[in-house]
Amino acid sequence: MKYLILVGDGMGDHPLAEFGGRTPLEIAETPAIDELCRNGELFLNRTVPEGFPPGSDVANLSLLGYAPERYYTGRAPLEAAAMGIRLAGDETAFRCNFVTLDRRDSDRVTMVDFAAGHITTAEGHQLIATLQRECADETFHFHPGVSYRNLVVVSGEYPELATVPPHDWIEKDVTAHWQRYLADVKWRNLLSRVSATLEAHPVNRQRIRDGKNPANAIWLWGEGKMPTAPPLTERFRIKGSMISAVDLLKGLGVIAGLAVLDIPGATGYLDTNYEGKADAAIAALAGGEDFVFVHLEAPDEAGHQGSADAKIQAIEDFDSRIVRPIVGALRHAGTDFRVVVTMDHFTPIALRTHSSDPVPTLLYDSRGTGPKSQRRFTERECLAHDRQHGNALAQGHLLIEKLFER
Ligand SMILES: [Zn+2]
Repeated sequence: MKYLILVGDGMGDHPLAEFGGRTPLEIAETPAIDELCRNGELFLNRTVPEGFPPGSDVANLSLLGYAPERYYTGRAPLEAAAMGIRLAGDETAFRCNFVTLDRRDSDRVTMVDFAAGHITTAEGHQLIATLQRECADETFHFHPGVSYRNLVVVSGEYPELATVPPHDWIEKDVTAHWQRYLADVKWRNLLSRVSATLEAHPVNRQRIRDGKNPANAIWLWGEGKMPTAPPLTERFRIKGSMISAVDLLKGLGVIAGLAVLDIPGATGYLDTNYEGKADAAIAALAGGEDFVFVHLEAPDEAGHQGSADAKIQAIEDFDSRIVRPIVGALRHAGTDFRVVVTMDHFTPIALRTHSSDPVPTLLYDSRGTGPKSQRRFTERECLAHDRQHGNALAQGHLLIEKLFER
């Protein structure tokens, strides 16, 4: 028996007036997913527990079988895992954004750009190398990531800090938050050294000459220690792979004990290497693995852009270039399988950010056992089915037990 979870990130949506009240999932042609849905179980799944922000980190933890209430310790430790940084028990990881702050008026601090003009990875690495050389000490360490997204690891006890994500404060006054960072002498020393080093750095001087936003400060957030979670490999005695373009998902894969595959050309957007992902999943299962988790970021990106057309395209590509070939290969090989097709959360076009709606989920068993929904895979059909049968999963982390029939 093979087990699969196929995730279209952010696929769910709310009815769109410009499409006669239909959603992208309703408009998109998804014959492969609909066939699995008609002949499988259909239910709502609450991936984001009450009181949690509807982030991909929280929702995908649920999909992998980890209750966020118990295992969610922050975004940064998951990114650390993805970057191959092993956090010791007394270490805390912080996401370290390069940002552009306006501090010309000495009383006010404004978040001009949460991503420092999407600084290049090469520039970011130069800056981090300088910070590690000139500002790191026995407590604070800098680790380079991609573009503006880096990490600071803090060893041992550190002064309490209430952080906020910088992308929530674009073009807003962040004076009160910045003052909080500066309230403790240890943080103040670090951040003032960092700011002085960045202001003087040739990379930033060049960016200013080129009319680009300089990385004139760091913004620390998303902090946490490494969650101690039992790997799926032990829990279900399986071997499996994580297939995703996104660091966060790769980090979750590491924590879950999965092999994290690097797919050339996997971009996290519409132009991603769909065939490479599908082929990798097929090869992993044919090569003796029991489980694959395939994650497609493109629908979520389209949602953040507010582009319904791009979202419909991403959903159709998910259907025809991920779901159809993988299911087709398993059937062709005569292998029995159980497959979940779902999303982590909604990314409604109208909101351009995530929402906490429970997500439509289908579970298909190739042996033909179990309920058959006789419905298409859409938000509306799933809600109607739920009203009729009341079979929603109230806790998203239980999905994995349903998949593995525990
Ligand atoms: Zn997501």
